[in-house]
Amino acid sequence: MGPSYKKMRVIALALDPVHVGAGGGRIGRVDLTIVRDPVTRVPKIPGSSLAGVYRTYVAMHYEERRQGNDRRPYYPNCAGLGLDEHSGHCRRPDCPVCTVFGFARGAGQEGGFAGLASFTDAHVLLFPVPTRRGPMWVTSPMALERIGKKASVEEGFVQVISKDGEKPEGNLNLGWLLLKVQDVSKGSVLSELPNSLGLPQYMHDRLALVSDSLFPHIVNSNLEVRTSVSIDPATGAAQEKALFSYEALPRSTVLVWEVIAKNPRLFKIGDQEIRLDRHRDPAGQGPEHVLEVVKKAHPYLEHLGVGGMGTRGMGRIKVIEPTGGPSAQAGGQP
Ligand SMILES: [Zn+2]
Repeated sequence: MGPSYKKMRVIALALDPVHVGAGGGRIGRVDLTIVRDPVTRVPKIPGSSLAGVYRTYVAMHYEERRQGNDRRPYYPNCAGLGLDEHSGHCRRPDCPVCTVFGFARGAGQEGGFAGLASFTDAHVLLFPVPTRRGPMWVTSPMALERIGKKASVEEGFVQVISKDGEKPEGNLNLGWLLLKVQDVSKGSVLSELPNSLGLPQYMHDRLALVSDSLFPHIVNSNLEVRTSVSIDPATGAAQEKALFSYEALPRSTVLVWEVIAKNPRLFKIGDQEIRLDRHRDPAGQGPEHVLEVVKKAHPYLEHLGVGGMGTRGMGRIKVIEPTGGPSAQAGGQP
């Protein structure tokens, strides 16, 4: 039967500014704010948003590869909320979209199915900040904990990796904030991150660690804020008094989230076994096959993105993999 679940950690790099809207709520000069963690105030992408985006892209993937004798349109039917009685989720035990992401209970139909995959919120792991030394990517002990790393830094200090032969400098500005530099050249968590996460080369000696109490402050005061105009779809012209501002996570922010996949063999839909791949024996399917389905969305994230304003060149994110391949761990209890 195998393990009852398997977890996959996903690390992704923002190729564009990313705007996942909070749905109203003005903060200061910003009209369209992004979602924040209610406790830390650091912006995040809710797991429910991720699940919706993954579902859509997985449905697109299977639709593009649909064979002649497979009549179901995976996209758009199995994507979306599936609330339409006639064109909604197919709800079949051999649909990779409906089994992995679940389906709603339709009118006059049996109960819904929660789905085999669940998604945590996507959190900021590394955040780009302008400094006198050029851009630096800032993290905090709490952010590093999400990838299983332990680190600590004194309040009011910024830890950086100094280059060979370079003397540690006294102070470093992170945006408008001036912090004392603490050097951690040898064997620190910061110095092992680039390889363990598969970070792009340009970040390698540009990582910085600040305390958990400073991190939200630094992130929130260095978000991208843009101003745009609403276009009247009828005339194609800018609407009067339709100037609005919105905030976004800047390009090159590094995000982390987890996907938890349940073992399909522990579930049935109606009285039928789940077949993620209808050409494969259900007895040979485990949580790793659920993760395989989930990963079909990753190339689409890179081209179609997450969040709002996709038409304004926003939201594309690229999943990056550690040098030693993706990390997945199995366990007995979800
Ligand atoms: Zn379906």
